[in-house]
Amino acid sequence: MDPTETYEIAYRIIGKNTPLGKLDCGKLCGHACCLGDRHTGMLLFPQEEKLFADGLDQSFTLHPSPFSYGNGKRALLLVCSGKCKREIRPLSCRIFPLVPYKSAPASYCPILDPRARRLCPLAAANDRKLFNPEFITAVQRLFRYLALFPQIRPFLDALSKEAEEYLRFYA
Ligand code: SF4
Ligand code: SF4
Repeated sequence: MDPTETYEIAYRIIGKNTPLGKLDCGKLCGHACCLGDRHTGMLLFPQEEKLFADGLDQSFTLHPSPFSYGNGKRALLLVCSGKCKREIRPLSCRIFPLVPYKSAPASYCPILDPRARRLCPLAAANDRKLFNPEFITAVQRLFRYLALFPQIRPFLDALSKEAEEYLRFYA
């Protein structure tokens, strides 16, 4: 897998789609999902850090996270200054507050991340009808694409499992 090529295609699949289309959902919450720190930054997908090697001019910093996947690989967290050039933001920012849910082997559908409910008013509303349908379709297409990569599938599995466990204990 060539990380640069893989994630540039992934970013193009989402394109300019955002949760509310032309409306800026950040106005609902003061861009709460952009205020993460080294414990709550954005998870990078496997090898996505390769795209951020030159990103330090944007004050991106990378930190180990407790989130593990596959055979105990630790995902990295990206922490930013709260502002970025949108065209180079990581994949987790582009799909938030959706996460993959494993619906069949190597098949994932987007669900609202239950862990985001305390932070994100869209996740708290828990109503997919509020979302721009083109955004949901683009994320669906993205998960179908990412599922083609054996290096990424364990990460999707782990995200799905974490969301499922959270729902089981807290929903
Ligand atoms: S926290 Fe939710 S509503 Fe706020 S900017 Fe992020 S995705 Fe949009
Ligand atoms: S990289 Fe950009 S979109 Fe992602 S959390 Fe930071 S400011 Fe928000």
